Amino acid sequence: MKNRGYYGDYGGAFLPEILVATFDELEKEFERIKKDPSFWKDYETLMSSYSGRPTPLTFAGNLTQKFGGAKIYIKREDLNHTGAHKANNVMGQGMLVKQMGKKRVIAETGAGQHGVATATMAAKFGFDCTIYMGEVDVLRQRPNVFWMEQLGAKVVPVKDGTRILKDAINEAFRDWVTNMDTTHYVLGTACGPHPFPEMVSYFQSIIGKEARKQILDAEGRLPKRVYACVGGGSNAMGLFSGFFNDPVELIGVEAGGKGLNSGRHASRLCSNDASAGIAQGYKTYFLQDDDGQMKETHSISAGLDYVGVSPILSHMHDTGKARFESATDTEVIKALQLTMQKEGIIPALESSHAFARAFKEAPCLSKEEAIIINQSGRGDKDIFTIADAVDDPEWKEFIIEKANEYNA
Ligand SMILES: *Cc1c(COP(=O)(O)O)cnc(C)c1O
Repeated sequence: MKNRGYYGDYGGAFLPEILVATFDELEKEFERIKKDPSFWKDYETLMSSYSGRPTPLTFAGNLTQKFGGAKIYIKREDLNHTGAHKANNVMGQGMLVKQMGKKRVIAETGAGQHGVATATMAAKFGFDCTIYMGEVDVLRQRPNVFWMEQLGAKVVPVKDGTRILKDAINEAFRDWVTNMDTTHYVLGTACGPHPFPEMVSYFQSIIGKEARKQILDAEGRLPKRVYACVGGGSNAMGLFSGFFNDPVELIGVEAGGKGLNSGRHASRLCSNDASAGIAQGYKTYFLQDDDGQMKETHSISAGLDYVGVSPILSHMHDTGKARFESATDTEVIKALQLTMQKEGIIPALESSHAFARAFKEAPCLSKEEAIIINQSGRGDKDIFTIADAVDDPEWKEFIIEKANEYNA
């Protein structure tokens, strides 16, 4: 065991012997680009020409008026190419892979969003691309599977275990062990063995760097609080890192699902259902039982539905550097509807968790203060879930009509 990549007691790299050299190489390359100012400059240039950066910081005047407290600002990661902050991570790793001379990328995906982002990056850089996905998820996420394939990626349905995300992660590692020389594994969030938590957070830090400058330009002062939803933790780390050295309160919002007492949620840091453990190559809080069996998770948003969490956030939780809250499925739909109707903005279901919590707290702050909500992605992708949740009868009719066309 190495001592690098630890955040307090969390993190590390618990690897099979065969992968140690590959991780050493990755770490060495990452350390090199971190010290090379031209890499970050090229990264910013790529993100501005390909992914709409810098993304705006939007003042939400109507929501501010409605709650009558702090000024509400929204950091618009939904305006990235492919509709979410995931582009920041995959494009950064793509640039690194190119410099390392590798020609093939693999990734695992649950809901398919990270798979689509990786397939997009691979098309742009000319890499061969294979995406591992649990067979159950392949069936549930047809639109994303369709786009990955159209973008030129090979999607492999994983038939092992319960045929969901964790099984896809195992399969991706198996591929990597076999093809280390040619292949890079594009991990999708600030989790996994070192150096991934640090590296993914590094690329996502572009969010916080921009947001800090933008709020100072707009308000002439720092925000009181900043809010981000927490799945694996990458968009939260991205926004938070801009304010690490400031007197700004950092708030991470997890999936409260049907409620923290229901057993049907994905809250690792603000429920009593998680404990520290080692799995998937790193140490963090996992939703697990006393025997270390991973629990079933639930969230209305696929992107927050995960048993582990970034080891960096676990450490920030224990030390009080950040505060963690949750929002239930019902609160999330309400916050989403309000944001659409008041601002004409459609946040992703994931992002709507941050909105829901911020709406609860905004009225308690003074009108002179400002808060920032990270809109990690756009909600168009969630049309099936949202239409079901608001029980739109015409949408149902449309789906049935479509199905009948195929049956005819
Ligand atoms: C994937 C995803 C998330 C969750 O990932 P983090 O690593 O926690 O940021 C959040 N929001 C959106 C829109 C996503 O697509």
